[in-house]
Amino acid sequence: MSDSLAAFHATLDPSRRSWVESANETDTDFPIQNLPFCVFSRETESPRVGVAIGDQIVDVFAAISCDVFTGDALEAARACGEATMNTLMSLGRAPSRALRIQLSDWLSVDAADAMRARLEPLLVPMHEARLLLPATVGDYTDFYASVHHATNVGRMFRPDQPLLPNYKWVPIGYHGRASSVVVSGTPVKRPAGQRKAPTEDTPTVGPSRSLDYELELGAWVGKGNTLGDTISIDEAEAHLFGVCLLNDWSARDLQSWEYQPLGPFLAKNFASTVSPFVVTFDALEPFRAPLAPRAASDPEPLPYLSGERDLAGGGLGLTLEVWLRTARMRDEGHDAVRISRGSSLDLYWSFAQMLTHHASNGCNMRAGDLIGSGTVSGPLPGSQGCLLEITKRAAEPIVLPNGESRGFLENSDEVVLRAFAEREGAVRIGFGACAGVVVGKV
Ligand code: CA
Repeated sequence: MSDSLAAFHATLDPSRRSWVESANETDTDFPIQNLPFCVFSRETESPRVGVAIGDQIVDVFAAISCDVFTGDALEAARACGEATMNTLMSLGRAPSRALRIQLSDWLSVDAADAMRARLEPLLVPMHEARLLLPATVGDYTDFYASVHHATNVGRMFRPDQPLLPNYKWVPIGYHGRASSVVVSGTPVKRPAGQRKAPTEDTPTVGPSRSLDYELELGAWVGKGNTLGDTISIDEAEAHLFGVCLLNDWSARDLQSWEYQPLGPFLAKNFASTVSPFVVTFDALEPFRAPLAPRAASDPEPLPYLSGERDLAGGGLGLTLEVWLRTARMRDEGHDAVRISRGSSLDLYWSFAQMLTHHASNGCNMRAGDLIGSGTVSGPLPGSQGCLLEITKRAAEPIVLPNGESRGFLENSDEVVLRAFAEREGAVRIGFGACAGVVVGKV
C-alpha cells in the first residue's frame, strides 16, 4: 500500500478518535471519519468553507496560518477562504482528499499537543454559526432514479402502463431551476398556480392544495467537462465532489395539470432544499455497495453506463428518513415523528450512471452543479419517499400519534430529511438535517 493510500485508509479507521470530544459520541453525525464540508459564517464575518467535526466547525482557511497544511491540501485550504465551495469543487477530488487526510491527522487524539493547541482556537461551535448554501448552483438537474417511485407514481397516472418503456434503458431526468435551490432552514412558501381537479372542467388559480416533499439525495459536481466532451462511467465519480440531502418540494395539483408534454415546471421550481453539509465520496467509501439487483428480465445497462467499479460499489448504502412535525406537535411539545425510512441502494441508477448519461451528448457539467437522484422509494410500505405515494394522493391519509392526519402538507408543517450510513466494522456517519417549514405567506 502506498503512503498516500495508507493515509487515506487511516481517515476511515474505526478506532481513530478525536480530541474534539463531541465527535466521539456514538450518535453524532460528524465523527472524525466523516469530516464533511460546509459554508458557514459567524456574526459579521464573511462566509467561508469549513469542515464539520462533532458539534464544531473547523475554520480551515484560518488554519492555514498555523502551518498545518502542505501540498494539495494547502491548495484546497486556500479555496476554503471563499464564500462558496465552487472553487474547491472545481479542483477535483485530489486536493480535498489531501485536506481531509491532513485534517484527520491533526484532529486525531494522536496529534501532537502543540498542534492541538494551535487548532483548538479555530473551532467554531456549530450553534454559533449560520450554515449557508454550499455552492452557487449553476445548473440543477433532477433524475427519476427510483424504479419503485416511478412505478408507484406511474400507476396513479397510467394504471395500464405504470412504467414507460424507456425507463430501464435511460436515466430519466429534467432540468430544474437553480435559482430556487435553498439551504436547510429556509421557510418554503406554499406556491400558487393553476390546478384542475379531474372533477373540474376548467382550472383555477390559487395556493396549491397538494403540497408534497420528495426525499432525495443530491450529488454536487466537482471538476467539470468541456462542452462537447463526455464523461466515461469509470471517470464519473472523479467528477463528483460529494453528496447531500435534497427535498424536491412538489405541488402535485400543479404538476398533474402542467406536466404533459414537457414535464415538471412550476410544480417543482418554487423551492428545492439542500442540507448544508457535503459528505465526500471518500467518507462514504466504507459504505459502498452494489445497487439492488435488477430483475432477471431487465435489460443490461448499455455499455456506456456499465462500469466494473460502479457495478460493484456504485450504491452508497445510506438509510434515508423523513420526519414530520406539525404546528400542534410543536405547540404541545412533541418531537417530530418519522414517517418513512428507505435505502439509497433501492435506486435503479447510480450517480455515476446519471452523470455519465448527462454528459453523454457532450453537455458540459460545471463545478457546483447539483444533481438530484429523484425520490428515493423502496419496494416495501414505509419506504416511500413522498406523501403522494404514501397516502395514494391523499386517499389514505397518514394518522399521526396525536390524532392529526395528513394527505398532503399543511401550513406550518416542518419536514426534516435525515440520512446516515452504518455497517459492522465502520463508524456510523450522518448527513445532518435537511429541514423546511411550509408557510402560507412570507
Ligand atoms: Ca424529484
